[in-house]
Amino acid sequence: MGNIKKIAVRAGHNFRATGARGLIDETVEDRKVKDSVIKYLKKAGYDVLDVTPGDCDVNTDLSYGVNKAENFGADLFLSIHFDKCYDSYEGSLGHACWVYKEGTESYGIAKKIVNKVCEEVGFKNRGVKINPSLYELRKTSMSAIIIETCFCEATEDVKIYKEKGFDLIGKSIATGIAGSIIDTSNNVASEDNDKTNKKLWEISIKGKEVKSLQNELNKQFNAKIVVDGFFGDSTLNECIIVKKGARGNITRLIQQRLINRGYSSVGKADGIFGDNTEKAIKRLQECFDLSIDGIVGRNTWKCLYGLDKGKF
Ligand SMILES: [Zn+2]
Repeated sequence: MGNIKKIAVRAGHNFRATGARGLIDETVEDRKVKDSVIKYLKKAGYDVLDVTPGDCDVNTDLSYGVNKAENFGADLFLSIHFDKCYDSYEGSLGHACWVYKEGTESYGIAKKIVNKVCEEVGFKNRGVKINPSLYELRKTSMSAIIIETCFCEATEDVKIYKEKGFDLIGKSIATGIAGSIIDTSNNVASEDNDKTNKKLWEISIKGKEVKSLQNELNKQFNAKIVVDGFFGDSTLNECIIVKKGARGNITRLIQQRLINRGYSSVGKADGIFGDNTEKAIKRLQECFDLSIDGIVGRNTWKCLYGLDKGKF
């Protein structure tokens, strides 16, 4: 396990570039959770810096915390949020964390946070989700985790949040992290340093990989796409449905995309759509709340090529 000593923590959004609003206000509540996380991390002996920005526009909001964390030399970056998906929701949606990639130090720590919070607080466990397109996950050189405490519009989530309180949530997050440092056993996370791993996203999303896909669709299906390396609607409209049993270059490109999106459990990009590829596609679909059928259709193509930005 990485030797984590310095932790940068921020609350998401600010009062000019505000977060979600439902039954509770994200920007108000995430600051309470953040303060509690910092309090307990300090008690656990960490060197902690609050990198929450003041009121500013959305671009400054994102870069401020990341830059502060970099200058501080943080080993771990935490960004604390509340989620929102619907106008209103009757019931529970739950707690989750987002990280850059599977099998990393961030992933291992996030898993411990999610499990601890859900165990102690009682939120539904949505697990650890993968998304390398999120600014704070791709721009930080250290391990980084976005924590989605619960959903502000879900009646059951808000009820639990109010009953159990931000202090217990902050304590559980800190305990998840502190515990992960004592427990160094059999964690895939230790193999893989996040610092070496964050370059693939931006290079691959435009350019070569997309050109290869466009060329392949033109060659195999006479799609007549302009080969410009830009994955937009004209490419998306020509994407075929791909599922288990498929073989060839399009499958290979899908596998490469999965690897670059952080779903390393797909294994090698060998052009054979087998069990591992199907499993990785299902995992992607789970992360982006798509129907989980393991089939690469229109929405899955969109998520593979990063047209899911904005989910934050
Ligand atoms: Zn947020």
